[in-house]
Amino acid sequence: MTEQALDKGPLVATVRSGTSRISQIVTLVAVIVPPLGIVSAMGLLWGVAFRWADLLLLAGFYVACAFGTTIGFHRYFTHRGFTARKPVEAMLAILGCMTVQGPLTQWVTDHRKHHALSDQPGDSTTIASCAPSTASTCCGSR
Ligand SMILES: [Zn+2]
Repeated sequence: MTEQALDKGPLVATVRSGTSRISQIVTLVAVIVPPLGIVSAMGLLWGVAFRWADLLLLAGFYVACAFGTTIGFHRYFTHRGFTARKPVEAMLAILGCMTVQGPLTQWVTDHRKHHALSDQPGDSTTIASCAPSTASTCCGSR
């Protein structure tokens, strides 16, 4: 990629230029607090208000939501790796959204951009996306 191409911005369009600091903080809290609450509930309320059925529900929803991201967001919506009927499509979208990874359209756009620009400037998942002049703002200092 030439220096001139870098000045024009990413070659693949995206719905956002990056993740805001507040979004990162909200995501961090949303990822850390629920497991702490579950462990606390298990320790304090086991046999009273928390039982094996609750743990099985947790495991079941965890796996279902993981399928929403891996099978739904990734293989179905991003890569169109298979066909599905509308109810299955809707369920995959709902389960994927339950993983707190942002809107489906944003996830798909960012992932397609990632594949198009793997390890090149513009790929939001690699450090290579940081042009030398903007490295301090796009590599975690924002
Ligand atoms: Zn992919």
